[in-house]
Amino acid sequence: MNGSRDTYPANSLIFIYKSQNVLESQFSIYFMESDKDSCERIFYELVTDGAILPTRAIESSENYTYFHAGLKTIHYNPKMNQLDDSSIKICILHEEGHIRNQYRTVLFLILLGIISIAIIVVVQANLILKLVLVLSIILISIWWYVLFDEYQSDLFAGRMLKEKFGVGKPSVLLEKTLKKLPSSRLSRITHPSVKQRVKKIAVTVDQN
Ligand SMILES: [Zn+2]
Repeated sequence: MNGSRDTYPANSLIFIYKSQNVLESQFSIYFMESDKDSCERIFYELVTDGAILPTRAIESSENYTYFHAGLKTIHYNPKMNQLDDSSIKICILHEEGHIRNQYRTVLFLILLGIISIAIIVVVQANLILKLVLVLSIILISIWWYVLFDEYQSDLFAGRMLKEKFGVGKPSVLLEKTLKKLPSSRLSRITHPSVKQRVKKIAVTVDQN
């Protein structure tokens, strides 16, 4: 009896020790997974699904109100983790759209530069008039391009959601998401209205 009493606790200890090891390793895997916040998790899912290029990165930053596209990095305010998964998904895809449009932005700026120089060289007027004309054209063109870039990024997100993830009406998700993100005075100038954006996606993506 004494012998078995001695060996029983010893075996139990080994069992408990081994169980703890298994639990710890499982816990660390779980911890690594749950260490990512919602925005990071959805970003990596989109990379795995091929909707976002693997060269991209994601970074949490208080410097931005909502989401923001850098050269290759998508930035997000940590508060954005409170959005539901489908809203985070459309926002991240929209930013990916901005990054993919960057080559177009470079071409646009080159073209705008050429047109500005041509006006200064060709137009017969005094220098001040030429400069006012060029400056007006630059400001109006940039404003138009910023709005165009927003539509293009919505279009990219909408098409991705429809073609890759089977979302029937991406415009409905866009409207639901944009209504959760109140617009600032600046964003009202640099972004088309919610109504215009939703209508564009409804016509170009939902119905095709
Ligand atoms: Zn945008």
